[in-house]
This record gives sequence, C-alpha cells and structure tokens, in this order.
Amino acid sequence: MSKIPELFGSMVFNEQVMRERLPKDVYKALQSTMKTGTPISPDVADTVANAMKDWAIEKGATHYTHWFQPMTGITAEKHDSFIQPADGGTVIMNFSGKQLIKGEPDASSFPSGGLRSTFEARGYTAWDPTSFAFVNDSVLYIPTAFISYSGQVLDKKTPLLRSMDRLNSAALRMLKLFGKTPERVTASVGAEQEYFLIPRELYKKRPDLIITGRTLFGARPPKGQELEDHYFGHIKTQVLEFMADLDDTLWKLGICAKTRHNEVAPAQHELAPIYATVNIATDHNQLTMAMMRKVAKRHNFVCLLHEKPFAGVNGSGKHNNWSISTSDGENLLDPGKDLKNNLQFMLFVTAIIKAVDEHQDLLRLSVATAGNDHRLGANEAPPAIISMFLGDEITDCLETIASGKEYRNRVGNKLSTGVESVPVIYEDTTDRNRTSPFAFTGNKFEFRSLGSSLNIACPNIMINTAVADVLNGFADKLEKCKTEAEFKKAALALIKSEYIAHRRIVFNGDNYADAWKSEAARRGLLNLMGTPEALSYYDTKKNVEMFERLKIYTPEEVRARKEILLENYCKVINIEALTMCEIAIKQILPAATEFSTRLATNIEKLTALKLDVTAQREILQSVASLITNAYAAEQKLSDAIVEVKGEKDVQKAANAFHDVVFEAMQELRAFCDQLETLTPKELWPFPTYGDLLLYV
Ligand code: ADP
Ligand code: MG
Repeated sequence: MSKIPELFGSMVFNEQVMRERLPKDVYKALQSTMKTGTPISPDVADTVANAMKDWAIEKGATHYTHWFQPMTGITAEKHDSFIQPADGGTVIMNFSGKQLIKGEPDASSFPSGGLRSTFEARGYTAWDPTSFAFVNDSVLYIPTAFISYSGQVLDKKTPLLRSMDRLNSAALRMLKLFGKTPERVTASVGAEQEYFLIPRELYKKRPDLIITGRTLFGARPPKGQELEDHYFGHIKTQVLEFMADLDDTLWKLGICAKTRHNEVAPAQHELAPIYATVNIATDHNQLTMAMMRKVAKRHNFVCLLHEKPFAGVNGSGKHNNWSISTSDGENLLDPGKDLKNNLQFMLFVTAIIKAVDEHQDLLRLSVATAGNDHRLGANEAPPAIISMFLGDEITDCLETIASGKEYRNRVGNKLSTGVESVPVIYEDTTDRNRTSPFAFTGNKFEFRSLGSSLNIACPNIMINTAVADVLNGFADKLEKCKTEAEFKKAALALIKSEYIAHRRIVFNGDNYADAWKSEAARRGLLNLMGTPEALSYYDTKKNVEMFERLKIYTPEEVRARKEILLENYCKVINIEALTMCEIAIKQILPAATEFSTRLATNIEKLTALKLDVTAQREILQSVASLITNAYAAEQKLSDAIVEVKGEKDVQKAANAFHDVVFEAMQELRAFCDQLETLTPKELWPFPTYGDLLLYV
C-alpha cells in the first residue's frame, strides 16, 4: 500500500517529470503555454518531444498517438511507431516537435455533420498541452483537439476548451468588481461513474448485449433490486479484485480514483474520482471508461456502460459535480459562513439560476441519447424536466431579497447520532435532494441527468457557456457603477430582478412525483421527453446566437452537431430494431416452436393413454398464441424499419424512429418476454436476467 505514491502518475508525463527532464527555460516556456495558452515555439516543441519520447521509451512505448474525441462520443487513436530509417539498414527512434504538435489523421470517416463536404476533406489534431501525455499499452498518448483545415471544430475537446476560456474571462470581470484579480478562473468537475459487471462467458451468449450494449429481451428475475440489499453492500471477492486492479491502472495514469461501492441494482457499481479541471476531468473520464472495459476483460467480466442494460432494473448514470474556482484557491460556489453578506456568492448563484432557466433546452439536449431515454423520468434518474435544487438556506435568502426584507442566517439543526463516542454533527443547511437534476450540494452543483456512457464534454460546454454568457451580461450592467455603495445597491437589485424572473426553475421538492409534472407545466418549464424532441431545440435562434456571441460554435457548427446527434439516434434505434428482429426469428421463435412441438407430442401420447392433458393444452395454447403474436409484432417492426428508412429529413426520421419503431420494439419484446417465462430453461437460447445479474 505504501507504494501508491510512487505508483501514482508513473505512466504520466506530468509536471514533475517535465521539471526533471526538461532544460529550465524549456520547462518555463511550456508552463507558460499550459497556464496562459501562449503559443509554443518550434525549438521548445522539439525539445519537449525528444524528452517525451525518451521518457516514453523507458516506459516501454514503441508508438505514439494523437488521442482525440471526435463527435462519435468515444475517443479515437491511430498509432505511429517512433522508428525512422537510418544508415546501413538500421532504425533510430525519433519524435519531432512537429509530430508532437500536429497530426493529420484521415478525417473523412469521422462524423462532421456535412461540415467537411463543403470544405477541406482532411482535418488535423493539435496537441492540448494542458492535459498530460501518458503511456498505456506501449503507446505514448498525446491528448489533442481535432479541427478541420478551414478551422471548423470536429471534436468535443475544442469547444470545451473554448467554453472554459469564456467562463474564465466572464468570471474575472465579475471578480474585478469585488477588487479581486486572480490569474485565472477554472471550472472543476468530479464525474461519478456507474457501471455493471457481468460474467464474460454469459455475455458472449447474448447477441443483443454484444451488438447493442443492452438486453433487448429478458423477463424480470424473481429477485431484482427490491430488497435493496446491494447498495453499499459487501463487495464480492472477484468484483473487489477487479476494482483493485482498476484503481491501480487508473492511479498509474494519474487519475485520482477515490471511491468505489456497490450501487442499487444487482451487479451494479460506482467509481468516483477526486475532481479536476474540467478538460482534464473529461479526458480522465473517457480513460476511466476505457480502462473499466479493459480491466474487466482481465477478470473474465464485461463492463457494461450502457445507460439501461436491463429493463426493470436501475440503469447507470454519471453525476457531473461542477464548481468554479480561482487560481488563488477560492471556490466561487462556497457560500461561506455568512450567506447574508456574501454578495459575490449570491451573484454567482443568481447567474447560474438564470443560465439554467434560459438554457434548460441545452442542458436537456446535452444528455439526450437513445440510451439515456430509458432513464430520464423513469423514477430512477431525474425527470426530463430541468430544474434546480438550492436547499432551504439559499432559497430563503433569495426569497427574502426578492421580497425586499432583511435576511437572517439559519443555524443548522443539531443532529445527534445517539452514540456517545460519536461527535455531534451539524446538519448541512444545504440538505440533499437526490431527485433533482441540478442540485446545489454545499459548494458545487451536481448535474445528475447524464447517462453513464456520455462524454462529459457536452454538458460542461453548455454549463460553462451559459454561465459565461449570463456573467458577461451582469458585468456589463455592474461595471457602470461608480462607487462601492452604488455597486452594492445595483448588485442587490440585479439579484432581486433576475431571481424573480427565473425562480420558476428552482424546485426543492420531489422531482419523481407526478405532481411535479403538472406544476412544471404550469410554470412553463420544458419537458422534452425523447432525444429527437430535445435535439430539435439545438439550433433555435436563442442558442445559435449565444454560441456565436461567445465564439463557441458558428451557426453551421451548431447545425452540424445537431445533425450528427440525430443521425446517431436513428442509427442506434435502427441497429437495435434489426437485432431484435433477427433474435426473434432465429432464436426465440425456434425455441418456442420446439417447446410447442414437445407439448404437442406429449399431448398426443398422453391422450392415447387416455390421461388428462388439460394443463398441457392450456400451456400449448398460450405458447402458440404468443408465437403468433410475436411473429406478427416482428413483421410489424420490420415493416416500420423499412418505412422509416425512406425518410430523408433527419429530424423527421428521428421522430419516426422514436414514435413508431421504438414503440413496435416494445410490443415485440413483451410477447417474447412472456414466452421466456413459459419455455424450459434448457430450450431458451441465451442466459436470463437471473443468470446475468445474480451470479456469485
Ligand atoms: P456524493 O454525490 O456521492 O455524495 P461526494 O460528495 O463525495 O459524492 O462527491 C462526489 C464528487 O464530487 C467527487 O468526484 C468529488 O471529487 C466531487 N467534488 C467535491 N467537491 C467538488 C468541487 N468543489 N467541485 C467539483 N467537484 C467536486
Ligand atoms: Mg452524487
């Protein structure tokens, strides 16, 4: 255990390695690039590249790759070896500054939403020196941004870096009004990651899991999560071995894996890291997901990161804990002890309230995927309606300001544990509400609507951008004040008017309750149920204008992103539907038919012996009619797929996949799941939910 400090970051070209291996002036130049974004000179790049190569080779690397995050949602890499021909038929290991800074993957097969066809076909990757390079599986990974030759953004990293930059400048403007001039303001994120682990042998027998990442069929097991005995429960030995191996792997890569525990559903677990600057947290979360899959293999497991691998069992999400802090170490979302006098905190919180209310659509669509549609609003994750939980204290404070009265700080209630030796603790005055999509949790906001497989760049681009935009608006107004008294008065007036205008987004109650749906509708909040509907809001005038104003996306880039996401939705549902048809026809119906033949033979034989066959007849009748219904549903589904595929407009196609194809899938599944409950286990073609989830 004492080895952890040495192990940690041992495969990362981090600051310590840089300090040790780079000449002082080069180290300083690189530091300034990392901190302030000053361009790097070719000489510096060459020296860094050479040091990086030597270090990587010592760690066993033979290749390097520009690691990027295209709009597919996963990471992409192409490996090049360091070898370079030398005299006498030999090779040397070489890596230049040019190769470090810029790569040119063949970009034509990555989704561009039509951006590339009108411009250059190729794109390039550019080194992101703010995120450390690392060695994994004998490859030096260099985190990069992916851009087209004409400057269009083709990835998730670039807009994230832009949004961080805009948030930085807007927050600095606000802080200046309070006489504070830190060097930088950054957003930090801690992403709690949920996942399932199932035995690899069983996984291999489920084509639906292999092809789509989720079970498309499956009757409920006799025991699910109703006993609630899994959450925080004792961790099984083989799972613990996986977790320990995963922690080790992540620590070597400099990822602060901190917390691990069992989740609500059987076979479901969670990993939480210690928070980091948002672009690093994003890279780390992508890496964490990749390592979960890889390490699982070593332990004969498969790690499922799909949002809803099993119907009727809780799905997996990802909580995005977001805060903003200064380079001087001040967390701008820390209310401090005296909320009443914390004008700065109240201004930032009001800005976030306004940002979330004005851009509910963007937050909602940033988490919209076919997989996440199964969770949102299903009483296991927040509803599709975006609202905010602030807790009583902040809400009271804002309500008092809104009413123009004096505010008195509340004191936390004493919570006694009833055990002498345990100290008395004070109730957190920002008590928890687990059902809220966007909850204030003491010194950060926790956005809980993310699905487990999502790249967290998307929601963070939205949060950073929306908050930066509002802060700029606030600063425009407040910068006009001439005296401190005038500023205080104007700031309070601003909090008051903006809170009144946007308080409809604040909801501290139970977000799972039906009453909230009607209450939210009364308040005029959006309730965008499915992915196609949510995505239709991406390029509204308000959104396009904001992205353009803050130079995050051009209008074409917004439309391209919308198109890619809609297309992706169509593809996912199409693949799921085709897979269902195939499994129904080739596996489920043959198994059920075989069973009915057995029953028929049995009935014939018993009848010849003049024995009672009432039960057999009844079962056979049920099986036969389920076969008829399942077959009809399969035919209906394949017809629906053909019909929808003729639709040229991508929004209309996505809507049809949602309204028609997905509905038809549910129908087919229902008949097949009933067949599963009747068919003998040895005839059923694949492992059941019970087999997959309740393994020992
Ligand atoms: P839970 O939500 O399960 O109660 P915790 O409160 O322990 O979990 O924190 C969850 C995540 O929030 C962790 O990844 C943690 O590092 C992160 N976190 C804690 N403080 C901050 C902060 N100021 N900014 C961003 N993330 C934070
Ligand atoms: Mg949480």
